[in-house]
Amino acid sequence: MIRVSRSAIPASLKTAAAIELPKVLAFYGRQPSKSSWKFTAYREPAVAAELKRLFHKKCAYCESKMMTVQPIDVDHFRPKNAIRTGRHLIKPGYYWLAGSWNNLLPSCILCNRPNRYESGGVTVTGGKGNDFPLMGTTLPLPRYAARSRVYREPQLLLDPCGKVPPSKHLRFFHDGKIEPKPLRDGTPSPRGKATIKVFALDRTELCDARRDVALRIIGELERLEEEMQSSAGPNGARRRAYHLRALARHLTDDQPYLEMARQLIEARQPGFLTLLPDMLRYYWRDQAPPLHNFKRRNR
Ligand SMILES: [Zn+2]
Repeated sequence: MIRVSRSAIPASLKTAAAIELPKVLAFYGRQPSKSSWKFTAYREPAVAAELKRLFHKKCAYCESKMMTVQPIDVDHFRPKNAIRTGRHLIKPGYYWLAGSWNNLLPSCILCNRPNRYESGGVTVTGGKGNDFPLMGTTLPLPRYAARSRVYREPQLLLDPCGKVPPSKHLRFFHDGKIEPKPLRDGTPSPRGKATIKVFALDRTELCDARRDVALRIIGELERLEEEMQSSAGPNGARRRAYHLRALARHLTDDQPYLEMARQLIEARQPGFLTLLPDMLRYYWRDQAPPLHNFKRRNR
């Protein structure tokens, strides 16, 4: 999961939501919570199209490339029909946010829909569904509330378009595994822990996919380290440029598991990521490169 700046609301969603919201509020103002409104505004084709563009056709939660094998689910980050937090299942959900652009994210089926999956050799239940855990024993807002109140709720799930960078709470490893990052006091981040559990970010197939990408990244980095330390002359410069570009390819926004790539490279060569754009420019323009003290490290 990486942080993404949300674009402006698609015009067709703005229009459709403005028509739908008063009807939704009236419906939930008089109906018991057993029935639910059939929301349609968020199904505007421009919504899925803009979310695909914004997230480069990746799942907002697991960063897998989706479009090869499945269409996207437009997920309501705050669930619209019901909210599961702790042992509570509360109806309705955040119905007034069903057509809110800030509440919509592109998700793969496995992150979004409840299902059983393998993790560490055991079968567990995961996939978001109606899950929206809050810290402690807090219960969600029961009815329509202003946006400022909603965003003050002590939510546990990390929002890819939120203020808090997911990188502060999620830690990736070169074998594809993921863990909640330790906080300052050494305890695992509760937000990281909840996010991993709810979106099943530790499912075996996903860990395997991340591991394969991690192996390629580490391989490219090792080759670059060797070239930086040994190559001289024009051929050496060409080889360094080749490996720099190969490594940089893993760091463009459209690549899967970008947060993992950043963490692996930063852990192995601290400071290198910030220099990489300048180094690439050097190799394109044939100018003096910025210095980076490449270190040989064990995997
Ligand atoms: Zn996903």
